[in-house]
Amino acid sequence: MVVNPEIWQEAQWIDMHVHADHYQDINLAIDQCKKHGILAWSCAMDVDSYERSRTLLADAPQFFLTFGLHPWEVKNWDRDWETLTINLNKSPLIGEVGIDYHWEQDRSFDTLQYDVFEFIVSHASKTGKWLNVHTKGAEKEVFEILKRHQFQKAIIHWYSGPEQWFHKMADLGCLFIPNSAIEQNLPNGPTKTRFCRD
Ligand SMILES: [Zn+2]
Repeated sequence: MVVNPEIWQEAQWIDMHVHADHYQDINLAIDQCKKHGILAWSCAMDVDSYERSRTLLADAPQFFLTFGLHPWEVKNWDRDWETLTINLNKSPLIGEVGIDYHWEQDRSFDTLQYDVFEFIVSHASKTGKWLNVHTKGAEKEVFEILKRHQFQKAIIHWYSGPEQWFHKMADLGCLFIPNSAIEQNLPNGPTKTRFCRD
């Protein structure tokens, strides 16, 4: 069980994408979650962020913490595939992961980003885990990998790419976290596909 069953039952809202270690005051966020019945999925971005968040959330069952290697952190990663696998194995869901060819401007890591994401999709595919996925500027590549693995447990975070890949991902079975970019840019987006309960 990923989430404390009592918290799950009492939750009024589920926030599918936060970063506990990015808050200025984590206690304020925890209080708000308690007050409003919010359950929050806290995505780590690398091993350090996973460990930091674990300490911050030690007494906060309103948050469920998962391990991921964020595309922005791939360039700083030590390429230790074994430790990556150990951390993936520890995490009941995986996130944040994905590919970013837009905000990440160093093109020399494109292939590594692609390979890391495919490695993680392959792990999730074998273990049946959900993924929290970042797609900025690499919607085609993310789709390619998901499709190759016939992967249907991807939750797409803040989709703001071309309509074509949005529909392909939706047809594959991806879920999308609602956001204003989808509402503004994709006229058929909100009605045509399934969204997570946010
Ligand atoms: Zn994020």
